[in-house]
This record gives sequence, C-alpha cells and structure tokens, in this order.
Amino acid sequence: MKREDVVYFGAGPAGLPTDVLTTAASALLNYQETGLGVAEHSHRSTLAADIVNTMKADLAEFLEIPPSHDVLIMQGGGSGQFDATVYNSVLVWVETQRQKIVRANPSINEEDLIKQLQQKVQSDLRLDYLVTGSWSLKANQEAVRLLGPTHVNVATDSRKLNDGKFGKIADESTWQLSDKPAMIYLCENETVDGVEWPSFPKTLESRASDDQTLVVGDFSSTILSRRIPFDQFSIVYFGAQKNLGLPGITVVVIKKSLLSILSQGKPDLARKIGLPVPPTILDYAVAAKNNSLYNTLSIFDVFVAGQVLKKLLATFPDKVRGQEALSGKKAALLYGVLDSYPEVYKVVPDESVRSRMNLCFRVTKGGNVDEAERAFIRGATERGLLGLKGHRSVGGIRVSNYNVVDEAGAQKLATYLKDFATSP
Ligand code: PLP
Repeated sequence: MKREDVVYFGAGPAGLPTDVLTTAASALLNYQETGLGVAEHSHRSTLAADIVNTMKADLAEFLEIPPSHDVLIMQGGGSGQFDATVYNSVLVWVETQRQKIVRANPSINEEDLIKQLQQKVQSDLRLDYLVTGSWSLKANQEAVRLLGPTHVNVATDSRKLNDGKFGKIADESTWQLSDKPAMIYLCENETVDGVEWPSFPKTLESRASDDQTLVVGDFSSTILSRRIPFDQFSIVYFGAQKNLGLPGITVVVIKKSLLSILSQGKPDLARKIGLPVPPTILDYAVAAKNNSLYNTLSIFDVFVAGQVLKKLLATFPDKVRGQEALSGKKAALLYGVLDSYPEVYKVVPDESVRSRMNLCFRVTKGGNVDEAERAFIRGATERGLLGLKGHRSVGGIRVSNYNVVDEAGAQKLATYLKDFATSP
C-alpha cells in the first residue's frame, strides 16, 4: 500500500505529516550541510541547544504558555511521569512543611525537625487522584506502589457510576478530596476509554493558585488540540507520540515557583523521614537547571516535534484555537454518523464525556458484535483506513482522531461508516 492511500487512526504512536517526515529524513542524513545527521551531533553542541530552545519557544507560542511556567523535555514517557509527579510533589510538600516548621521555631535542631516532619507525614500527606479511566488508574496505582495506600486517596472513581466500567465523570460535588492534598491528579483525556473532561473542574481553580496543592494534568492524548488554562495547573505533562511527534520525549510544563521550591528542597531530608527520593533523571529541578540536557537527550525527537510545531504555527494563525476548532469539527462529523445508525454503532462512553480524540464504539450490526467488528475492520483495511482496533483491555473499535488526520481523512472514514451501516 502507498503512504498516500492510507489514513492512520492508531492511538499512539500516531502518524506524522509526510512533509515533516521528509524534512526529518533529510536532516537525519545531513543536518544543515554539516556532513552529520541531526541525531549524530552532540546534545551538548550549540546546534542541539538551538533545536531545543526553538522547539520550546514554538510550543510556548502555540499553546500560549504564560511566563509563570517553564518547559522541560524529559524521557521515560507518560509512565515515567506517573512516578515523577509523585516524587516531585512529595519533595515540594516536604520543603513547604520544613519551611513552616522552621518559621515557627527558627532554632529547631535536625532531630526535632525530623520528628515533627514524620508526624506530619502520618497525619497530613495525601495525594488525591481523580480516576476517570485506565491511565489515571495506572497513575494512581503507581502512587500507591511508591508511597503506600495510606498516602493516596481516590477522590472519585468513575467505575462506581457505571457498573464497574469507565465512561462517565462524577459531579464535583460528590468528590472526596483530602483536606490539604499535596497533589490533585487528573488525566485530561483517557485514551483507552474514550473519555475526555468536557471542561476543567471548578475545584482546581482555587487550588492551583498557591503551591500547597499541586494540580497535575496528563494531557498526553489531546495536547496541541485544546486550550489549556495554565493558571489552573501546577504541572501539565504529555508524551510526544500522539500529537507532538515521535515516541521518546515527554514534555513537562511546570510553574516556575515550584521549580524554585524544588531547588531549595533537600532530597536527603525526604529520605530521612522515610519518603522516596526521585532518581536524578526524574527530578524536575535537575532538568530545569540543565535546560533539559542533564543526560543524552534524543535531539532528533526534539527536532521532529519542532517541525510539527512550525507546521501548526504556519497553518493556524490563531494557534491552538484553530486546531481546537478543527478537532471539534472532525469529531462532530464522526459522532454524527455514529449516532445516525443506532442499530449499527454504539458509542461506549456517556455523551457528556465523549473524547474528541479517541472515539470508542462497538459495532452491533446483525447482533454478533465480534463478527461485526471483524467485518468492520476488514472493510476499513480494504479502503486504507488503518489502526482502528480498540485497546486490548476493552476491545471494540477506537478511532484516534489526532491532529495528523486532516478533514479529508475524517471524511473518508465518515463515508465508510455510512457505507458499512447501509450495506446489506
Ligand atoms: N497517559 C496517557 C493519556 C496515554 O495515552 C499514555 C499512553 O498511551 C500514557 C499516559 C503512557 O505513556 P507512555 O507509553 O509514553 O508511558
């Protein structure tokens, strides 16, 4: 099959625009007539620093990241951030508590400081998770693995609303948040379950304004397709492999005030009071201090992300707003067709939380779902519509409507959905 005959709806890694890949392929062989490819140059070179700085600046421009926040490029994927967010919020919490204790008693000795901190850990240290799907659940489970269950609170679990399955989001008034959680964590778009937050919870607005509670958002599967109210988030992170570029780099947008607390923090002290200390490569303060180049970074991945951003900036004069409107239009087109054939398609999540990026549905035509879904995939493959199989944990069909899928691609799928539904 030729590349131009394919529309790829895979959930990640996603496809990339062909012109970006053409530029990347040439840069891989010989970057700017240097005789070396971009992946062969040292990550310590000026050339590499330029690629990193340009990518960061273009990202900040496209997403309108305010000067209060810094951009870090890290490794270890979204899964690495499940850990990094825990480690770093614990360090922020310890340093904030230490400062409070020392302010109240400036001459306190280390032994008493440790005793007081240990008491605080037992009585107060809680990380809150809003569990709305498989990825926030995984993040929550990772926090329990690192800290133990007493320090981790599930403030809401969507499965309780929906017969043990994800597909809804509970009203904020029902959440059971801790009194002063060190962190509140949400996943903006649940890639596996097709659930997206329709708006950002009001509860977060007041919380993120101080540095007592870190509000953390995993934006891995909708990044660059939705405006983010950065003032409501202490940390926003995302893997590159859906809307930004290739797998291999993970971006963290973090409040500078937190970096400043982290740089005063003492991991030693956290260890002495029995809390886990981040590995150096997951320590946000280390990444910030080294302009994301503490260890060897894949400059090729950063270059590709930079090319995606240049293309987006050239395509959408009103930046992320433009892409947001287009993503909404493509999703409305596809859901519109699915809803027109209720005998054939059943969208899995509740209408109120349907994802614009990952459309999850079952094919019920003829009554035998397995058979109907196999026929659906077969017919789609014949038309070059690829990557439509649902996640192995939930089955069904999943259309990943990432930015790389243009309007014509979405239209091609919409036509197939209609043809499949109406064929005998
Ligand atoms: N968070 C979300 C929303 C995801 O979709 C994924 C992966 O698809 C992850 C986290 C985990 O990312 P990684 O595979 O890079 O660890």
